Amino acid sequence: MKIHLKQIPAQGLHLNGNEDCPIHDLEAEGIRCTGQLHYNLDVGIAGGALWARGSLSQPVELRCVSCLEKFLHEVRVPAFAVHTELHGPETVDLTPFMREDILLNLPAHPHCDKDGDRVCKGKQIEIAEQDTKRKSDWSALDKLKLKS
Ligand SMILES: [Zn+2]
Repeated sequence: MKIHLKQIPAQGLHLNGNEDCPIHDLEAEGIRCTGQLHYNLDVGIAGGALWARGSLSQPVELRCVSCLEKFLHEVRVPAFAVHTELHGPETVDLTPFMREDILLNLPAHPHCDKDGDRVCKGKQIEIAEQDTKRKSDWSALDKLKLKS
């Protein structure tokens, strides 16, 4: 997302719109963009630097680490903030900054039941495994009692 510095008036500029997903290259890692990046920003120039403040959201499809099923998630950056020195070019590209903040807000261990709108099958299996484990612990204890 390139910003033309000449287009920014002294009082700043409000930008609200959509951009191409900045993390397309992560598809190999199971992170797929399902729509465009949405931004809602205020930008301005002050003291030889460009600043931008606002929020971002990027819909993605992730793979649950527990059940390995794909699910939809919205990466939100509620407090996106950039302050970058200007070194002469007429445009500043905000895409690298947006990309970095989206990456920072991606869940490191995505769970499909995080938003509470579905039940993770992987977790059910985990609980079942824990139950059998507990039972076998008891049977081990029973055997111990028999010995004594
Ligand atoms: Zn899951």
